[in-house]
Amino acid sequence: MLSQIFSAKYILPISTPPIEHGALLVRDGRIAMVGHQRELQKIVPDAEIVEFEDGILLPPLVNAHAHLELSDFPVWAEELGETGPPSPDDFVGWIERVIRVKRATSPEQFSAAVAHGISESLRAGTGAIGDVISQFDARSPHQQSPLLGRLYYEAVGRKAEPTRKLHKKIGQLLREGECGGLETGLAPHAPYSISAKYLEELLGYARKESLPCTIHLAESQPESDFLQDASGPLAERLYPLVGWGDDIPEGEGLSPVAYLARLGGVTSANTVVHGVQVDEADVEQLAAAGTSVVVCPRSNHRLGVGQAPIELYKQHRVRLSLGTDSRASNDSLSVWDEIAFARNSYPGLHPATLLEMATVGGADALGLVGELGALQQGWGVNFQVVEGGDLSSPGELFEFLTGPGRNDDVRHLYLNGSDCLPSA
Ligand SMILES: [Zn+2]
Repeated sequence: MLSQIFSAKYILPISTPPIEHGALLVRDGRIAMVGHQRELQKIVPDAEIVEFEDGILLPPLVNAHAHLELSDFPVWAEELGETGPPSPDDFVGWIERVIRVKRATSPEQFSAAVAHGISESLRAGTGAIGDVISQFDARSPHQQSPLLGRLYYEAVGRKAEPTRKLHKKIGQLLREGECGGLETGLAPHAPYSISAKYLEELLGYARKESLPCTIHLAESQPESDFLQDASGPLAERLYPLVGWGDDIPEGEGLSPVAYLARLGGVTSANTVVHGVQVDEADVEQLAAAGTSVVVCPRSNHRLGVGQAPIELYKQHRVRLSLGTDSRASNDSLSVWDEIAFARNSYPGLHPATLLEMATVGGADALGLVGELGALQQGWGVNFQVVEGGDLSSPGELFEFLTGPGRNDDVRHLYLNGSDCLPSA
């Protein structure tokens, strides 16, 4: 069996320090060795050599939370005259807009948006995704996509009959198993959009079937107010809009994390998305359970909900990753752009932390450790090559990679051993 050596000016394995003039030895579809090019060539002199001369070779990025079905949202919103940014700090006004635009969108448009989102992601060096889907028939473009990760079927509901139908449909889809390269899971939307009874049922079902769940949690102050004492704009505006105005639950008197924990959702199998409205007790609870937190800095900024306390999460060794969320609250699906934004928003964080969150951290959130997210012996042949600029030493790599503009520098994206970078 032919061996291959992929070499580059710099190799950034993530799990170990950068290597100048480094290389990967690939054999039988797995990474066999990571080291210096000359050494690997000595060990396997007849290997085929693929050189990326000025490139930086590193793992693909992982977008641990997205909604690809909304990738064309800005176009749809424009057509409906829903232009301009949402009013600052009006989280519920933004949800209302998303609902209006989704109601005016056809199944074909959602499906085309998933296809566009896949291309945009691949072009930006993203190799794995945690994609949440509510328009289930729009998932078909994933069947032909090389992306790895998870497809989470979204569940909402308070009323018995529509909820029962929706959950039955999701049960059928889950029994079908993976969709393209994506394993499947369950996405109860958020603690305010699904009743305690149905949320507890779904979490129990997922535990029984060993399915991962992801949930938007602790995103905004209105969510916290709603769970505390059923007050605020979610009860006053969102519930009437979706026909639940006569069914506003009692306040729980709990933080979002404590509420999810009470219903059995704070576990190591599940990820929570956002994690902005948390105190130290919440962070300790997530750390103790091994629950993974997906941070979405640009979306949080756009919606004016605050900033997730990444440093505090780090202190408590909470599992962390990055997500773009959807194009309804973000300018792009590029994790490179997300990293550059986070670099500015969290000046105290070491750039290596952001790169870890965007690679091995995301892989951990999506169950891909051993496959993608680091360059190590035995892992899958998954990497990207970024044009390296004029770096003079490996020490400059972290600053360079977390700076703006890397999105346009992706030259190759190898997934399962093949270059999958779409042409521009
Ligand atoms: Zn989301």
